[in-house]
Amino acid sequence: MSKTPFTTKEKLEEIAVVYPTPFHIYDETGIRKNAENLKKAFSWNKGFKEYFAVKATPNPFLIKILREYGCGCDCSSVTELMLSKAIGAVGDDVMFSSNDTPASEFKYANDMGAIINLDDITHIDILEKTLGKLPKKLSCRYNPGGLFKISNSIMDNPGDAKYGMTTEQLFEAFKILKSKGVEEFGIHAFLASNTVTNEYYPTLAKTLFEVAVKLKNGTGAHITFINLSGGIGIPYRPDQTPNDIFEIGNGVRSVYDRVLVPAGMDDVAIYTELGRFMMGPYGALVTRAINQKHTHKEYIGVDACAVNLMRPAMYGAYHHITVMGKENEPCDYKYDVTGSLCENNDKFAIDRMLPKVDMGDLIYIHDTGAHGFAMGYNYNGKLKSAEILLKEDGSFELIRRAETPEDYFRTFDCFDFYKKVTE
Ligand SMILES: *Cc1c(COP(=O)(O)O)cnc(C)c1O
Repeated sequence: MSKTPFTTKEKLEEIAVVYPTPFHIYDETGIRKNAENLKKAFSWNKGFKEYFAVKATPNPFLIKILREYGCGCDCSSVTELMLSKAIGAVGDDVMFSSNDTPASEFKYANDMGAIINLDDITHIDILEKTLGKLPKKLSCRYNPGGLFKISNSIMDNPGDAKYGMTTEQLFEAFKILKSKGVEEFGIHAFLASNTVTNEYYPTLAKTLFEVAVKLKNGTGAHITFINLSGGIGIPYRPDQTPNDIFEIGNGVRSVYDRVLVPAGMDDVAIYTELGRFMMGPYGALVTRAINQKHTHKEYIGVDACAVNLMRPAMYGAYHHITVMGKENEPCDYKYDVTGSLCENNDKFAIDRMLPKVDMGDLIYIHDTGAHGFAMGYNYNGKLKSAEILLKEDGSFELIRRAETPEDYFRTFDCFDFYKKVTE
């Protein structure tokens, strides 16, 4: 598969006149089509609901689009809860899947009626002390340990992950919760990240469904939902085959029919907490080539840096790059594409074959719609970029302005210093 931008050079130049680079741009058409498909793929399950992982793309304007397709919000911090509340997502529209949770955040989540997903058995006590009384509906996060394998290949290492309860703790937690009056139970697990295979969800579902049957039989708990969480990946590399959400939906359905239905659990709702899959491909970081350098290697310096997209620096993640307007030219130049941070890992690409880059070229960095802008920070005094929505009718709208130096210095506003830099 070749990877192509969702917009044109002409459109990006038109936008850049109004909002200078760098900026993240999002494709409304793609977001809608994908959300629609997810909904269809799981329409066989009556209670199906996607709780969009707010941390992936915490922009209220984008999440509001997903809300039109019945999506709720998956939050893991108080500010994410606040964001959700501000766009009208409260009650059962909010899943609070946090870890290492401060008691005050449990309280905030409960006050807005969110479903609380407990990461640890010790949180039962904390929750009870904090709220006075446990909610009627609660979820527990499961971590079976060991390696997560599909066929014979290792997908991830849950045994090394800080999240969730062991099998023993899960049974214990359900018993305790039941004895304390909890009436509706959920199970949640996130065992592998960015999986580009249609088998992840069905394999995970089998694990969760089987444990659900045992929990029901062993504790008498009424399990009303099973949350497959996030982890469905996207093809960052051009040679990867994208997931087929319909095949994934059918795969989960056949495990459901095989495991849950015979156990009399045919009313269990399937929940998801997808982030990357919902937004990743529908965002791009648009930046401009502003410097070139020839030393021991060939460097192209752009006006964005790791502050705008941290994944390559943090994980060595691959993000495809298109030099706009040169889509059909041969990739016969080898470059490191770098940002300006005083950190040598600030490289969007290393030894990447690209067409000859000229100063002023627009560089389109693919698949930044999730875990892109969101992971931004302010190292080196760098400012976070704007976010722009490319609408279905081809018009564009600013959905977050770029940071200014005033924003950067704002946290000194109780000191004279803020006045000094801003006057
Ligand atoms: C990060 C996260 C998600 C979303 O993960 P993706 O890989 O973006 O799908 C969902 N649930 C929880 C609890 C998470 O921490």
